[in-house]
This record gives sequence, structure tokens and C-alpha cells, in this order.
Amino acid sequence: MKSLKQRAENIDAVMKKAASKTPCRLIAVSKQQPDEKIVQALDAGLRIFGENRVQEAAARWGERFVQHRDGLELHLIGPLQSNKTADACALFDVIHTLDRSSLAKALAKYRDGGGKLPRLLVQVNTGEEEQKSGVMPAKLSAFLRSMDQDYGLTIEGLMCIPPVDEAPGAHFWLLRTLAADHGLSELSMGMSADYDTAAKLGATYVRVGSALFGARS
Ligand SMILES: *Cc1c(COP(=O)(O)O)cnc(C)c1O
Repeated sequence: MKSLKQRAENIDAVMKKAASKTPCRLIAVSKQQPDEKIVQALDAGLRIFGENRVQEAAARWGERFVQHRDGLELHLIGPLQSNKTADACALFDVIHTLDRSSLAKALAKYRDGGGKLPRLLVQVNTGEEEQKSGVMPAKLSAFLRSMDQDYGLTIEGLMCIPPVDEAPGAHFWLLRTLAADHGLSELSMGMSADYDTAAKLGATYVRVGSALFGARS
């Protein structure tokens, strides 16, 4: 079996080969993985980690692994409830899932109270799925305008999770087009099954869990 370090190197090589102009960075999605795997990842030199739950991430990264805290970059890739905004802002360097005004309002309030905001990406519901979070593509322009004008929030890029039963390429293409149309530089797209496709289509972050760490417990 390959070591975690070898898997990370393979993913890196695939990304480097695929990515043309923009550098693409690997977010190691550590949600629901045992701490021993995190230690292996840190030993392998990985420093960018993704978590989808604020509480779980705080328990893992808030106290343990503090010796790595300086070099670490933590990304929230799961939905954020407005009442957890302060906790999330204190822990995460980047939030990928801004998708509604109530959350923007909570973020602005945190900033106005003297808090330092993480970097922000807006989640787009590229598949226009009923049950999925994210701003609908047709509403993105108005949403981004409101983030700036109503809340004074700077948005750096877009994130998407394509529908499970569709080829992801068209969704990645749409996300890239939307980002270009709005002058946004960061593109968070691609997971274990499709990060190479995403990297080819201009991803600046791919979010890889199981292909790196193995199946989640
Ligand atoms: C869990 C998760 C991932 C990683 O999924 P894998 O298929 O294990 O790579 C990526 N992005 C989001 C938003 C996730 O919730």
C-alpha cells in the first residue's frame, strides 16, 4: 500500500501536469479522519487542511497540533451556521461556503466588532439542485454586488460541488466562467474523483479527502 506521503506526491504530480497557468494547491480534507492520519499528513509536509464542521475542526486543530499552527492553513469547506460565525472566523483562514445574506451579515458584524475575517469564497450551486446550498448561477451577480455594497465583504473566489450523478467538467467550466466574469481569482473545485479534471479547468484549490487519507471512518 502507498504511504500518505506517496499519495500526496502523486496528487501533486497530477495537479502540476494538469494545471497550465494558475498554480493549483491541494487542500487535504481531514474531516472524520483519525488523528494518526493527520500526524502522517503533517509529517509528509502538508499544511493546508479542509474541514466541514466547525466544532469538529476546533476540537482537532484548536489545541492539538499547535506546534504546526504557524505554517497551517485551515479551510472551512462545509456549511456554516450564522451562530457559529465567530468560532469559525477565529479558527479558519478561508471560508469556502458563503452562500446567503444572513451569513454575510454575521460576518460583517464580527468584523465591525474588531474581528479579523478569513478570506472568503462564495459557494455556487452550479447544478441548481434543490437540496444543495450555494447561490444559484443566475443570482450570483446580484449576490456579489450585495456582498460589496451592503456588507463591505471582499470575495476572492468561487466554490462548487457538482451533482453526484453528472460529469463534473461542465460544472467546473461554468464556475470558471462565472469567476472570470466577475474578476475573481480563486476557484475551489475538484475532489478525490475529479481533481485532475478540475485542475485542467483552472482550479486554484482542489479539495481531496479519501484519495489522500483513505475512506472516512
Ligand atoms: C468531504 C468533502 C470533500 C472531499 O471529498 P473526497 O471525495 O473524499 O475527496 C471535498 N469537498 C467537500 C465540500 C467535502 O465536503
